[in-house]
Amino acid sequence: MFATSIAGSLPKPEWLAETQKLWPQWKAEGDALRQAKADATLLWIKAQEDAGLDIIGDGEQARQHFVHGFLEQVEGIDFENKVKMGIRNNRYDAMVPQVVSALKLKGRVHAMEAQLLRAHTKKKIKFTLPGPMTIVDTVADRFYGEGSEGRIKMAMAFAELLNQEALALQADGVDIIQFDEPAFNVYMEEAADWGVKALERAALGLTCTTAVHICYGYGIQANVDWKNTLGHEWRQYEKIFPALAKSSIDQVSLECFHSHVPMDLIALLEGKDVMVGVIDVASDTIETPEEVADTIGKALKFVNKDRLFPCTNCGLAPMSREVALKKLEALAKGAALARERV
Ligand SMILES: [Zn+2]
Repeated sequence: MFATSIAGSLPKPEWLAETQKLWPQWKAEGDALRQAKADATLLWIKAQEDAGLDIIGDGEQARQHFVHGFLEQVEGIDFENKVKMGIRNNRYDAMVPQVVSALKLKGRVHAMEAQLLRAHTKKKIKFTLPGPMTIVDTVADRFYGEGSEGRIKMAMAFAELLNQEALALQADGVDIIQFDEPAFNVYMEEAADWGVKALERAALGLTCTTAVHICYGYGIQANVDWKNTLGHEWRQYEKIFPALAKSSIDQVSLECFHSHVPMDLIALLEGKDVMVGVIDVASDTIETPEEVADTIGKALKFVNKDRLFPCTNCGLAPMSREVALKKLEALAKGAALARERV
């Protein structure tokens, strides 16, 4: 009961990449970089186990960014000529690569990390991939055409590639494959209309547990500013949860602690496992076990205890290592306290 995990990313050590950045520059190249990525992955597997987490991830140590890490292995994308684009409905600008021709995987994307993870922990393992709609929102298109028709076509093309990698990850021994779809909270109608279908295409044929993570973004200033415009009740989930409840996806990961998401929206996910965000990623203040257990207690009014999985609100990538480690420990201790209370 209350098996704990992180949403996905963890801070990169300063010998691997620039710290506290969303798109950090690597500190090495070639074989030295490959080795450093593997070393950092191992380090975080151990740290998650030591903290007492139940489901272990790779901490996304081998990818520069949760979307672009995947895109680097896709043929048909021009990484040499990035362009500035407003992403998440112009919430902030990012330098993004361009889709210039038909898309195809160059080969495996995450074999190294997934196999390391499987070889070095006996616990369940979770692996994250970007969702199709969020990819479409984090890349410039010069091939699929304007308007929603082009966006849908491109999303389905990415979903096929994601599916290939997801099936390979499953064969590597991954227990839970999670697609990250922060874009669902921005384009709610499109998400319900075709985003969930693209997600199901990405998960087609998987027999392992499938999950989707929908958050209000990393704890960066642009997101904090955006959240301040959303009012005292954040009801974005209300528009997308019904479509997800009807979908084939098994688990939904959402933001709770310190958010203005009304807890009763969880009831819209009947029949699904719910990964409840009990750790704030936009604050360096470490949650107490009591706070974590209290959030779990509030969520329990709307989801059965066997379906509740305590998690972080989002990835911890832009935080300091020290803070991230303490937050992992708080997550595990809070879940332990919640088990006692139940
Ligand atoms: Zn997130």
